[in-house]
Amino acid sequence: MERADGGHFLIWLHWREMRFDLVTIFPEFFTGPLEHGIVRRARETGLVEVRVQDLRVFTKDRHRSVDDRPFGGGEGMVLKPEPLFEAVEELLGHSLGNSEQPVSLEPKTAIVLMSAAGKLFRQETARRYAELERVMLLCGRYEGVDERVAEHLATEEISVGDYVLSGGELPAILVIDAVTRLLPGALGNEASSQNESFSEIRDPLHEGGASPVPTPPEIPSASGLLDFPHYTRPADFRGWKVPEVLIGGNHAEVAKWRRAAALEKTRRNRPDLFLR
Ligand code: SAH
Repeated sequence: MERADGGHFLIWLHWREMRFDLVTIFPEFFTGPLEHGIVRRARETGLVEVRVQDLRVFTKDRHRSVDDRPFGGGEGMVLKPEPLFEAVEELLGHSLGNSEQPVSLEPKTAIVLMSAAGKLFRQETARRYAELERVMLLCGRYEGVDERVAEHLATEEISVGDYVLSGGELPAILVIDAVTRLLPGALGNEASSQNESFSEIRDPLHEGGASPVPTPPEIPSASGLLDFPHYTRPADFRGWKVPEVLIGGNHAEVAKWRRAAALEKTRRNRPDLFLR
């Protein structure tokens, strides 16, 4: 990918380029979603590099089969372990060994299996990945993936939500998006990822002025609150008016209102965040 003007300066400023590798049977799936907005800019300026690896390259038979029937019987097909192991080994540049002599990974590398049966991907997961140098995302298809991939290849098995999709490609895009926007320099306004839903420290006043409002003890800081409601012009739209306090210019009052509104919205839309 070509770099926009200033890209080299940004690399120098942040020195750390994060690398994502996608392993998939549908490489062309990724041409659109990574070409817009923040992710596109992060790629152009060299903050992140995204590579797509076609799983079929690592098949050896005439039909280039990546899947096979499940042991024990039942519906559907299962992705075979060999091509996935070999794809990852090729990307890493070394073997991962076998059951007798497993080879350990570089630190700061995650091999993530996208899986409806995985642990939930949350904002805190995105924050953790944003500290890594390399994240490989393995996209399942069909009935899923031979369990030995989850057990002995992936460092983690991740679900993007309690629903079943037909493949791991969309979940992988989600992960790349959520992680990329947390990298220093990815957002135009550095402050904006610090004051949003699920962020660790809540300061409802985006600009300075008021001191940060402490998180109430019933909300674990890892989950945070939802964002407060935002309004813009016109102040009166079809008779629906913007809350008066936001127009008054009293920063302390605005902060108080935003805090209360965020709490109310969290209670209404995500009561589970209070229980975690
Ligand atoms: N039989 C599996 C679903 C397979 S869906 C089950 O019941 O759990 C096919 C592939 O889509 C999976 O291997 C996984 O890579 C991806 N996928 C589906 N839902 C997902 C989710 N919620 N999060 C992450 N990946 C998912």
